[in-house]
Amino acid sequence: MIPTLIVWIILGFCGAYIGYLKGYPQKLMAFLGILGPFTLLVVYLFFPKTKEARERDAEHKRITDEEAEFKKMQPCPTCGKEVTARAWVCGYCGHQFVSVT
Ligand SMILES: [Zn+2]
Repeated sequence: MIPTLIVWIILGFCGAYIGYLKGYPQKLMAFLGILGPFTLLVVYLFFPKTKEARERDAEHKRITDEEAEFKKMQPCPTCGKEVTARAWVCGYCGHQFVSVT
């Protein structure tokens, strides 16, 4: 009995997580998970994401890309210190970068 309960809980969490990924109601997906992992797999593989989930993913990707861009570093040609690629002026020596990307 106890192991069954644990499997149910795990499947319930899996269902809720897939619900989160796809943008479906998480409680419903947790219930589906308890009903059977096969149902979950089918939903995971073949069901489309909702518009909200796609928008959330796109927004997340945009923020991640922006952060990566912001974290890009380049060496200052004058003092050699690493400054962000977006910098117009070196924060260490005041060198002005000509090319702004
Ligand atoms: Zn510098």
